[in-house]
Amino acid sequence: MTIQNKKNRLRTEINNLKQISLTTLLSGLVIISTLMTLTIMVISSYTSQKQSLINNVLALNYESAVQMSQTLDLLFQSMQQSLKYGASHLQDTDFTHKLKLNNTLSLIQNSSDYFNSVALTDETGLLLSMSPYSLVSVGKHIRSEDAKAAIKARASYISEAYITPYTKNRIIFLSEPIFDKEGKYKGILSGSILLQQNNILNLSFGNQLKRSDGSYFFIVDHKGTLLFHPNINLIGEDISQNKVVQKLIKDQTGKERYVNLSGVDSLAGYYKVPANNWGMVIVTPTQTVFDQLNRQIELLLLYTLGPFLILILIVLRVARKLTQPFVFLTNLINQVAAGQTQLPPVKPHWNREANMLNLKIFAFMEIFKNKTNQLVIDARTDVLTGLNNRRTFEEVIQQWIQDETPFAMIVLDIDHFKIINDTFGHSVGDEVLKKIAQLIQASVRPEDICSRFGGEEFVILLHDSNSMMAYLIAEYIRISVKESVLVTNHLVTISAGITEFPLHSLSATELFQLADNALYQAKQEGRNRTIIAQQASKS
Ligand code: GH3
Ligand code: MG
Ligand code: MG
Repeated sequence: MTIQNKKNRLRTEINNLKQISLTTLLSGLVIISTLMTLTIMVISSYTSQKQSLINNVLALNYESAVQMSQTLDLLFQSMQQSLKYGASHLQDTDFTHKLKLNNTLSLIQNSSDYFNSVALTDETGLLLSMSPYSLVSVGKHIRSEDAKAAIKARASYISEAYITPYTKNRIIFLSEPIFDKEGKYKGILSGSILLQQNNILNLSFGNQLKRSDGSYFFIVDHKGTLLFHPNINLIGEDISQNKVVQKLIKDQTGKERYVNLSGVDSLAGYYKVPANNWGMVIVTPTQTVFDQLNRQIELLLLYTLGPFLILILIVLRVARKLTQPFVFLTNLINQVAAGQTQLPPVKPHWNREANMLNLKIFAFMEIFKNKTNQLVIDARTDVLTGLNNRRTFEEVIQQWIQDETPFAMIVLDIDHFKIINDTFGHSVGDEVLKKIAQLIQASVRPEDICSRFGGEEFVILLHDSNSMMAYLIAEYIRISVKESVLVTNHLVTISAGITEFPLHSLSATELFQLADNALYQAKQEGRNRTIIAQQASKS
């Protein structure tokens, strides 16, 4: 192989590598477009759902804050009402009658779950009685500033959250003044809530927020001190720096996304409680919304994965079906190139372009086949007479010798043909050639081969025959020619020489030579005759 050939082969191989199959192309395109669609779907659904989920949670939290602060408001009014009722009951009670006082207070405290304790303090600040009874406190003057302020207020009072001096409890209390019938101020009846213990707040609201998204609520007073929180340790802390609490301090209500004091991104709804000026805040960590969103996106991907895989399989199948006609046509062309002449029947294809290609290539192949057949016929035929030409004769004789088919050969020549040409013209000569060709063809069997060897000389190969049969046929032709009036007023005759395979020779050249010699002999002996070649002397 030359260097140039090697280079060409290498180039073809590189080109083949660069080529891409229709199946790969189609499935590639489908995968890319599906992935792009999925990405766009995920991004758009993520952004739109994120905002709507956040808005939903904010709205829900605000709604809950409104409802819970209304409930707290009602609860508080009813707590105040209960204290007022107790105070009115104590109007005429003798404050020196300790036992009676203790019983009354115990009754007030036990009549509801409102207060962890109730206490009666006279106008000087002396704690007269308490329920549950506290030995440490009763009989002493109260020390807390809030309690002093409550006595001084002579009106309904709500304390700040503070730590009691004796029992060290973090509490708030509500108080109502007590006046006797003459309107003389006798002291206050107060109800306390122990903020860090079981109390009315967690009894009423502890189970209110049954949500699985990590939401919780807290209550602050008007200064931003935590009164209720799921984390009991935080109660009493000042969280007035919290963005939402600041708004509540400014008497604003609403909903918003914010970062709380622990740095947690949160979604809050907040509302004021009218009765005590407290604030109710419902909080959901924003992360839970994102978690929910991620789960939705995962589901979306999961649901689209199945159809996506089915689509790929369909595309692969369609692509394979689409490529079938190309493969089929390539094979067909290869077969035709290899010499197969019988075309298979055209099958219609469901794809319009493939079908068109199929039909066109088949039509072209049909024309090509006919043209090729015609060329083959032309290459084997003598133009003037339509008989086989010399090439065909040579092919056939070689084939028959190779197949060891017995045959006889007649070499036939028109006598004094030159005279016909010279006397009547070349075209008359041509006509004579044609007529004699017809006569020859009509005198033999279909399996015999008649050919024009050149000029006015013909060769007939008689299949599965011998010299005697050849002689009879040659004679038949000779007499037919002689008796036909081929040229007006001119007798046309022929001479013939005969050989036989394998009798005379095994070589095509020699067989012809011997027949030609016999023909020459016929000419010598006066023409218009047939002579069988002599057999080579066996020495
Ligand atoms: P013989 O009896 O010895 O065969 O004499 P002949 O005249 O037939 O032989 P010769 O070889 O002297 O002449 C053959 C002539 O055949 C010469 C040539 O012009 C003529 N010829 C050859 N081919 C054609 C052809 O295709 N058409 C015509 N009209 N004449 C041809
Ligand atoms: Mg002649
Ligand atoms: Mg001749």
